[in-house]
Amino acid sequence: MMFKTPCYICEENLLENNLKLLDDVQKESGAKIILALKGFAMWSTFPLISKYLKGCTASGLNEARLAREEFCKHNPHAEVHTYSPAFSDGDIKEIAKISDHIVFNTPSQLSRHVGTVKEINPHASISLRINPEVSSSPKDIYNPCGVYSRLGTTLANFDEDILKYVDGLNFHALCEQNVNALEEVLVTFEKNFSKYFKDLKYINFGGGHHITKKGYDVQKLIKIIKKFKAKYAVEVYLEPGEAVGWETGYLVSTVLDVFKNGMWVAILDTSADAHMPDTLSMPYRADVRGSGEAGDKKYTYRLGGNTCLAGDIMGDYSFDEPLKIGDKIIFEDQIHYTFVKNTTFNGIKLPSLAILRKDGILEIVKEFGYEDYKERLS
Ligand SMILES: *Cc1c(COP(=O)(O)O)cnc(C)c1O
Repeated sequence: MMFKTPCYICEENLLENNLKLLDDVQKESGAKIILALKGFAMWSTFPLISKYLKGCTASGLNEARLAREEFCKHNPHAEVHTYSPAFSDGDIKEIAKISDHIVFNTPSQLSRHVGTVKEINPHASISLRINPEVSSSPKDIYNPCGVYSRLGTTLANFDEDILKYVDGLNFHALCEQNVNALEEVLVTFEKNFSKYFKDLKYINFGGGHHITKKGYDVQKLIKIIKKFKAKYAVEVYLEPGEAVGWETGYLVSTVLDVFKNGMWVAILDTSADAHMPDTLSMPYRADVRGSGEAGDKKYTYRLGGNTCLAGDIMGDYSFDEPLKIGDKIIFEDQIHYTFVKNTTFNGIKLPSLAILRKDGILEIVKEFGYEDYKERLS
């Protein structure tokens, strides 16, 4: 198949497998699952996603607009949930028009904006994000419940005066975690906040549920949700991002040069910093198809990006055959939290977006060029 690199390729059948599993959870547990756009926003796949998921969760005006324009047109019953650590007076007016649920971070934000929201959209549901103050998030940068957290309202900061406005409570305390972590968070969340559940319509369990990862205990999740719904007579929402795009595709790049400086180095037409930023900020090592750890196979290379940042390095990988100019390097599982975070740092070209359709046709849904770089600057 001929296509220009760098290019992200999302495989439609893998995406649909994830969606079917998530739909099983919905059907068996009675929970509603919505897509967190933060982690996956390839809107050309929304015709497919909207067949399974009940809506989107947005983190501000732009994501809310994308959800309304591109998701709801395929599924008119889809819901738009919008949360932000803080809403500006201007944005909240636009957000109120296009959101079904608005989630406030603090009682002060809620009190400040609830009047405006109700005036513009009397049907909007109002929610408060809770900080349950427990989390076993693997990295501090992804832990919303760490010390001095900006995200959510702690028990000490809860203000009962806002309960009269509130239809639901949200928490988001997990990151790439199995169901036992959810169980742990629920113990504290229920202990501290269940006294407020009586008049609520829903509880939103946030994202970070690694439902589509092999080994996730889906049956236990279903059991927990059913029990929770029965105990408190509320709807339950989950809003995963990563679990939707998990292992649904890859980033294809091309070797542009190979040389030796103490060790063998290969320069690729992509960038760890601009195109796979989590490899540096998490940090983590992406799998490269057909490769091993440094030294495992006969030929070891440091794979690096095509920017002037010294640290723009994906890692050291070994191969059975020497790399040569023009070879394709495929980074696995680069669909969630990758192109949503892309930059044109150093003027590097953004990778194209493509979908490998179920019939085997590769459809390039977006190509980027000089204008995309230039238009962000002035
Ligand atoms: C990031 C985020 C999500 C999605 O998290 P995943 O780890 O991608 O499942 C859901 N809700 C909120 C509030 C978030 O910030």
